[in-house]
Amino acid sequence: MKRRDFLASSLAATGAAIGGALDPFARIAAAADDFADVKITRVVGFDLLTRRDKLVGRNSRLDVHGDRSMDRMIRISTSSGVEALGPCRAGEEQVAQLLGRPALSFFARDERRMNSPLGRRSTALWDLAGRLLEKPVYELLGGAGGERVPVYDGSIYFMDLLPQRADNWRDQLRREIDAARADGHRAVKVKIGRGKRWMERAAGDARDIEVVQLIRAHAGQDFAIGVDANNGYDLAGARRFLSAAGPLKIAFVEEMFPETVEDCLAMKAFIAEQGWQTKVADGESQRAPEAFRLFVEAAALDVLQGDMKHFGFELILAEAALAAEKPGILVAPHNWGSLLGYYMQLHVGRAIDNFYMAEHDPLKTDVLRADGYTRRDGYATVPDRPGLGLAIDEAKFADDVKINFDLRA
Ligand SMILES: [Mg+2]
Repeated sequence: MKRRDFLASSLAATGAAIGGALDPFARIAAAADDFADVKITRVVGFDLLTRRDKLVGRNSRLDVHGDRSMDRMIRISTSSGVEALGPCRAGEEQVAQLLGRPALSFFARDERRMNSPLGRRSTALWDLAGRLLEKPVYELLGGAGGERVPVYDGSIYFMDLLPQRADNWRDQLRREIDAARADGHRAVKVKIGRGKRWMERAAGDARDIEVVQLIRAHAGQDFAIGVDANNGYDLAGARRFLSAAGPLKIAFVEEMFPETVEDCLAMKAFIAEQGWQTKVADGESQRAPEAFRLFVEAAALDVLQGDMKHFGFELILAEAALAAEKPGILVAPHNWGSLLGYYMQLHVGRAIDNFYMAEHDPLKTDVLRADGYTRRDGYATVPDRPGLGLAIDEAKFADDVKINFDLRA
């Protein structure tokens, strides 16, 4: 029997059992039983190298970020021939524990989580479940988000401090904004905090403001600008920055200073006094959703930014559930340096109804095909395809990819 017929027959049976109401999770439950004999037969670990079209400079904390990055990945094969992939930094020993196990045995569908030896590094298992059940991952995660996911380009760093740009950085800045627009963006995140480490304080602060003014003048009023200081200011400095930049309509301020409930509340109060709509965002360095509890209870942040790959789907959903306890608090996962994390965020954006924006680090690879993922007018789309909807170009994979391990049952 073909998989589609298989699903159709279990669907009919389930429909009858619950009086014709086709509860999607009952459907998934029935299908999961049908796939009990599908086992994981092989897991290949590899490094997916990615690149940017530009050299990305410093931020307030770290030196030049360069034009390369990498996702550590796994590829899973099953006895039914269905394959899956995902980012995974779990060690070989943990990954080996998947071998011989039923492909859907980790999937706790009602809790929307994977209970597996990979822990929070479960993305490939979500892809696998989606491919077997013929559902996009966002649907397995809840499917409560909008059809289009708001997105921003997070790659506007300190191009003015790259020696090769020193004389023409304003042109380079305008080119980077144009490139973001051409890439479908209507929002960018701009790094600030030059005065923390790389410039004298007053000169660095003045440059931060000049950069934001230049972007507003170049991009126009209908372009969203967020700023990220990587904790390069303190509360007083953040107030100083916003006193100058606030009238330019800043969408959000991120990591202006190391976050405390007290300082974040003071920042929010300052913004409210001025009548600005600027959101206060923070949290990329938090290690678990529970760290956000006090901030949510006090409504000290508008946007929670747990890291997409570090949290994984399960913990980002937990963070979103926590955020939902206070109306108006949104989730915007941090995602720098990861192409897979970008696609993961888009699935989260389609899964939850309190999603703010996805962070796009403009990374590329020829090894992965992402047909149906688009970016236009500031929104991204996700293909209505099983799993993550990503595919490997086998020829490019064979040529370009470094295999870390190849484990078979
Ligand atoms: Mg940040």
